[in-house]
Amino acid sequence: TVDICVLLEEVLNMGRIYFRDNQRLEFSFENGIPPLQIDKLRMRQVFLNLIRNAVEAMDKEEGVLGVTVRKVSLSAEQIPFSEMNFEPGKRIFVSISFQDNGKGIPAEKLNRIFEPFFTTKPQGTGLGLSICYSIVRAHGGWMEVTSEEGQGSTFSIFLPLEAEE
Ligand code: ADP
Ligand code: MG
Repeated sequence: TVDICVLLEEVLNMGRIYFRDNQRLEFSFENGIPPLQIDKLRMRQVFLNLIRNAVEAMDKEEGVLGVTVRKVSLSAEQIPFSEMNFEPGKRIFVSISFQDNGKGIPAEKLNRIFEPFFTTKPQGTGLGLSICYSIVRAHGGWMEVTSEEGQGSTFSIFLPLEAEE
């Protein structure tokens, strides 16, 4: 059982080693996020991968990575996996989003970035995001991405809040 904000704070501090002088972090979280059942080591790996990708995408004058944790209430049609829809009505999730103002992802590549071995980097492995996705799925959650070329990208993780019985 883990306080996700405490874990994130820890990882974000570790992740600062990736930051250059012209890049900074803005962390904000909603109070009263209940503790989650998660594999700390694996989730730390997810966060670090997302931080690294963001830092690698931000080669502008001023890079800002915003990390936000909040509770969201979603209806059935907003939940992509049907096994989560065992009850009617809204369900509550924790969303953790990583918003960068980096180079962004062209629309035609956006639906491929979670594929294993898909990379646009000369030295990339293309495994980071596919591993992130599997880990988040193994926690009963999912990931979403939005991006605008030249403006930046936002990667969000959704984790179920109520314990599933
Ligand atoms: P790798 O980092 O080794 O290339 P990933 O699976 O982590 O592999 O990412 C796959 C691809 O998705 C990257 O090569 C890059 O094109 C794109 N990508 C991932 N994160 C971002 C980001 N924050 N901003 C822009 N592009 C990104
Ligand atoms: Mg990567």
